[in-house]
Amino acid sequence: MRKKLFAANWKMHLLPEQARALTSRLMAALDQWLGQEREREVMVAPAAILIPAVAQVLQHSALYLGAQNMHFEDQGAFTGEISPPMLQACGVQFVILGHSERRHLFHEDDEIINRKLKAALRHNLRPILCLGETLDQRDSGRTTEVLLSQFEAGLEGLSPGDIARVTLAYEPVWAIGTGRNASPEQAQIEHGALRAALSDRAGKKVADAVRILYGGSVTPDNVDSLIVKPDIDGALVGGASLRAESFVRIVRAGLG
Ligand code: PEP
Repeated sequence: MRKKLFAANWKMHLLPEQARALTSRLMAALDQWLGQEREREVMVAPAAILIPAVAQVLQHSALYLGAQNMHFEDQGAFTGEISPPMLQACGVQFVILGHSERRHLFHEDDEIINRKLKAALRHNLRPILCLGETLDQRDSGRTTEVLLSQFEAGLEGLSPGDIARVTLAYEPVWAIGTGRNASPEQAQIEHGALRAALSDRAGKKVADAVRILYGGSVTPDNVDSLIVKPDIDGALVGGASLRAESFVRIVRAGLG
């Protein structure tokens, strides 16, 4: 059975003291609960500069630490960038790659994202590869085609064993930070298409093991109907992860 993963993307929010306080509140609410064989995992991805502060609070916690981005090179003249070994050394376990804000605001293309994915795997970081269509692409009936193209390009050159170490996140661009979200039925169609593509690309065993998260305006009010869908294995949460109360409610989705 796939453990559900709930990932908090704090984006460019919070100052160190606020990040420490939010982390402490999440740990107080979730650490013990997660220890009781809940078949769930929780990750928080602070802004890069906050990672050491959050890592310090997370010592001995059941929560995982993530990064929102990284460069694909180990070191070098890349002003302003952060390398996979730097993340590793700071205790980071997951890294979000190909987020739509990286693709659209910072012009990251599939080739760059693929290089980052390979670098993450080389350094034993667990990549979360984000895929998603724009509103124009959805309106012109190209959603699945766009997702599969990002999927193929993002995973280019990876062995089935490597693919088994990747988590996918379906995040419709039009749903991120907008308060609009894909209906559970719309999301399930795309998650099902991605699961089938995983099976074609890496075999059924890998396809059954890889988690596919949904992201895009997930809130305590809509998470229950999303999480019951067979191919939705958790959520990548932006806005609603900035308050402990709402993120904890999301993590506990569907469990009453
Ligand atoms: C995200 O940043 O990945 C995201 C889904 O944001 P939000 O939940 O705010 O839409």
